Amino acid sequence: MPTRTNNHKPVDLKTTLDSTVVLLRQEWRDSFSGIQARRAIRAIEHAQSLVDIPELSMALALLESRIDAYLALPLEKRPSALTTIGTTLRDLQSSDMFKSQLERPAAMVATEKPAPKPSRPKRVATLALTAPVTSLPRVGQSLAAKLRKLGIESVGDLLKTTPRRHVDYSQTLSIRDASGFSHRGEVTIRGRIQELTVFPGPPARSIARIADTTGSLRIVWFTPWVAKQLKVGEEIAVSGEIDRGFAVPSMTGPEWERVGEDQLSTGRLTPVYPLTQGVTQRSLRAMTRAALDATASSTLDHLPETTRIANHLMPLRATLEQVHFPDTEALLDSARRRLAFDELFLLQLGLVRISEQRASLPGIPLSIDQQCTEGFLASLPFELTAGQANALEEVLADLQRPRPMMRLLQGDVGSGKTVVAAAAANAVWKNGRQSVLMAPTEILAVQHFNTFSALFPQDGNCQQPRIALLTGSTARGTRKEVLERVRDGEVDILIGTHALIQKGVEVPALALLIVDEQHRFGVRQRSHLITTEEGPSPHVLSMTATPIPRTLNMILNGDSDVSVIPELPAGRRPIETRRYMPQQRDQAYALVRTEVAAGRQVFVICPLVEESEALDAKAAVSEAERLQNLVFPDLRVDVLHGRMPSKEKDRIMAAFRDQEFDILVSTSVIEVGIDVPNATIMMIEGANRFGLAQLHQFRGRVGRGAFQSYCLLIADNSSSTAEMRLNMMVASNDGFELAQKDLEIRGPGDFIGTRQSGLPELSAVVRGFDSRMLVAARDSAERLLAIDNDLADPEHDRLRKALSDFWKNSAPDVPLS
Ligand code: ADP
Ligand code: MG
Repeated sequence: MPTRTNNHKPVDLKTTLDSTVVLLRQEWRDSFSGIQARRAIRAIEHAQSLVDIPELSMALALLESRIDAYLALPLEKRPSALTTIGTTLRDLQSSDMFKSQLERPAAMVATEKPAPKPSRPKRVATLALTAPVTSLPRVGQSLAAKLRKLGIESVGDLLKTTPRRHVDYSQTLSIRDASGFSHRGEVTIRGRIQELTVFPGPPARSIARIADTTGSLRIVWFTPWVAKQLKVGEEIAVSGEIDRGFAVPSMTGPEWERVGEDQLSTGRLTPVYPLTQGVTQRSLRAMTRAALDATASSTLDHLPETTRIANHLMPLRATLEQVHFPDTEALLDSARRRLAFDELFLLQLGLVRISEQRASLPGIPLSIDQQCTEGFLASLPFELTAGQANALEEVLADLQRPRPMMRLLQGDVGSGKTVVAAAAANAVWKNGRQSVLMAPTEILAVQHFNTFSALFPQDGNCQQPRIALLTGSTARGTRKEVLERVRDGEVDILIGTHALIQKGVEVPALALLIVDEQHRFGVRQRSHLITTEEGPSPHVLSMTATPIPRTLNMILNGDSDVSVIPELPAGRRPIETRRYMPQQRDQAYALVRTEVAAGRQVFVICPLVEESEALDAKAAVSEAERLQNLVFPDLRVDVLHGRMPSKEKDRIMAAFRDQEFDILVSTSVIEVGIDVPNATIMMIEGANRFGLAQLHQFRGRVGRGAFQSYCLLIADNSSSTAEMRLNMMVASNDGFELAQKDLEIRGPGDFIGTRQSGLPELSAVVRGFDSRMLVAARDSAERLLAIDNDLADPEHDRLRKALSDFWKNSAPDVPLS
């Protein structure tokens, strides 16, 4: 023990935390009134002023924010929250960092200097993050080749490979306590090796007996290798669970380490990494430890200090340390929080820059002829819903502005987005300008063409916009003619598939680009189209039925340019959603029969088998065969999957629409937006494997006609979150409500971290954080850019670099001049 003469501060710190414990107990006795909890917050604030180990300071900050959160809870939730807080505090008091803080001389606490880490012997020279893994001790070419399979090439990659989880081996007990009946779960035991044998097998085993002052423990490892590394008389620590079924306490295959060596696997929260053939947890832990040591001075934080502090985040160095080798659960949490924030912040910095750039482009201000619009609306066989009218008003207002519109029109399937787009195109035509409507598939393009032809009868006089269609099946001669007419301004609205329209079609008076099912295109393609135009940029109206929750919309698209159609036209029959267990499948089939007998049609979605399209396709084909041969030999069954050429997909969809067969079996790639009003059943196999948004999207394929429609969910008794999703599907038909719930369940990472969004992919650590963090990241990004728009300040050099790395593989590039 170090002497503690003339050293009051550590005593203060200890006393402060002890009194915090007392306050929390009083809070409990006071029936959670909050008064004592507020005092506890002040006590912790005081404790923070006495602390100089950054990790400890973070842990205290976390504790403080937990109590803060506690105060916001309703009374019935307070007891369990208070229990957690108490446990966190106790963990903190028994943590090594707390003990080492107490042992520090007061003089050091007073200084501003960053505290040296509780000294760990340096064994490796300082390395840059970019140094190859082979610069670490004991990492040769063959190990490096295996690491490459995990995407690890540099020392920095090693640090970025965060553990999938941690096992809690932090409880070290004597053999007697560990084998007593009051104890369950994972423990660490230290003892001296009394006996050691290699048992040649098969299976080959290492068998050891270790002892401490309270008893002895028998250990078996199913490898000869462990015994070969150890000697009788050595002291080792082993972590795992005690088997109590034997005469003597024993452990099977525990983690082990020599006492006195680095504790990487035992006696702590132990990291568990993703593995590949030939790389063990032990070696990854050792390499990561070495990488942390070697980069201690070369990892400099890229987050500006103000941003970091404003968001209560750990410094980068502590984050890396804690995310791999955490001292406590609480510190692990805050390290993860920091990593998640980092990604969201970089994402937001980029998005803010992109939207600023967009806002500075010159556009094409149009004038709106009210009478013309009213005339068009009067010609419709129905009245617009309030949501449609609202959306149209917003679109028309945008068209009059000198900046290009960039509006996302969101509405559940069947909410009537097309007619809003048509009214906008009509207004553009009145200005003598052209519009283009892009659809993701040929069949959708044709469907739109038919809709527009009905809205604007092509009767040869000049009172209507002239329409043309361009798809993959357009004959060559016709295609040439259409292109000429578009170029000569004889076509006012060009409708087609995006692939065709993107390829060198000249639309000289283009003023409005309408993109249907926007989420299928992604930021990349959309921006490509807009920027290839010379001169002023056309207005862009994107339409999507994929409900993105409002908060997320606000963040990804900016607040001003989203229109939502919240309701369906009156008179639609709500789809009835039913949930079946696999053994009740016959009931679902019975309904299929009834509906087909009444002349209706049926979709069957096959479960996601693997992350492989080929396997999914195979599963769909065999399900179709099974249904055709064994279940519905008298009905007409066909199949659709992602491995088919798109022509073939379009052909099958068209045949289904034309009622050439009854049951369409499909993988989850089924085309969105397709209108088959005669289909009344959507049967989803393995429904527990799909997310809510996707389930709702599937369900939207039916209920488009006048007939009562059904969504049949077939699912095993599955995980509780899957169960929650299925129940929500049965309970609600409202896509926005479901999407909001989905966001709550999954966190924002799943929504924005997808390839199709055209945004950088986010790592798993972002999942599980709520949208509040997204909002905070947005806020910080805006603040920072308001001060230093191009991140030109040398202080922001590292951030700038991190930003361009983060956006490197995505388009558009973040504009940084
Ligand atoms: P989506 O938003 O899914 O693209 P559509 O634009 O295809 O929806 O519209 C679905 C159907 O609803 C179309 O047949 C359309 O004519 C019809 N519809 C659109 N608006 C209304 C309305 N206000 N009242 C009644 N029917 C409408
Ligand atoms: Mg549509």
